[in-house]
Amino acid sequence: MLRLLLFSLLSYSTLGELRSSTPHWDYQRHGPDAWPHVFDACEGDAQSPIDIRTSHVKYDSHLAPLLINSYTTNNTISVWNFTHNGHTIIAYPSPLSRLSISGASLREVYYLVNVHFHWGYHPYHGSEHTIDSTKFPLEVHFVHEARSPNTYAVLSVLFTLQRHDNEQLNDLLSIVNQTINASVWIEYRFDVSRLLPTTSTKHFFLYNGSFTVPPCTEGITWIVLAKHVPISVDQLEIFSGNSVPSNFRSPQKLSSRTILADFEPEPYEVESSHGTPHSTANHAQISMFSLSIIIVSFLTNY
Ligand SMILES: [Zn+2]
Repeated sequence: MLRLLLFSLLSYSTLGELRSSTPHWDYQRHGPDAWPHVFDACEGDAQSPIDIRTSHVKYDSHLAPLLINSYTTNNTISVWNFTHNGHTIIAYPSPLSRLSISGASLREVYYLVNVHFHWGYHPYHGSEHTIDSTKFPLEVHFVHEARSPNTYAVLSVLFTLQRHDNEQLNDLLSIVNQTINASVWIEYRFDVSRLLPTTSTKHFFLYNGSFTVPPCTEGITWIVLAKHVPISVDQLEIFSGNSVPSNFRSPQKLSSRTILADFEPEPYEVESSHGTPHSTANHAQISMFSLSIIIVSFLTNY
């Protein structure tokens, strides 16, 4: 247990999020607008998150498929360490779990270091990345590190609202509910694949960015999955109800960067809070309404 904790803290330290020498930062008084005054890198030209504007995304047919290794097999239901670090709820895998990603544009295998969350104080924002300016209620980051020193890739999954609870998240949320502050460490057997979209193909957006928290280190490969995971308003309250009511950074300027994708994205269609795409349904309703008006006018005139 001690070794596990030590490993976790070391992993943490490599991300620069728990160094005692790091100046204080948060999401309120010392929030994202103040970060560049204290951390030079936070005003760099390759910062994260970004708005993924689908009309600017470049389809790259040469991108290899993304491989999410060992996440979805039974032997990954292993012991994790959950805690609240004062900024987010974060889970560290067992050092023996060897979860990793490869493929895409990655030149080597990247191993999972931690999983953590970004949320908002109401259900209509909370994500860090946006797609065509659409905000999502929750975003989870899977931080991976390569064998080469200081080489990171973050896999990002966005959540969408649905009317009913996503039963797959219940185990996780019961743990999240107990991580009230940084003094609580919980060991728990957890199947991390429940935080991934259920589709077999994992289409993705890819760009070069930074950590979204101070010191905002750049040179991070970002892989944002195109498919999302559903969650209900009630389930989200478990995040917004803890000691940090919101913890997302707004999208940063893209500058000269390119966003690649292994598929041809269509403009993001905003869905209603209950998961029903309102465009198609509403358009059909509007058409029927217009048709009724035409028929009524026709009958009145003749
Ligand atoms: Zn993050």
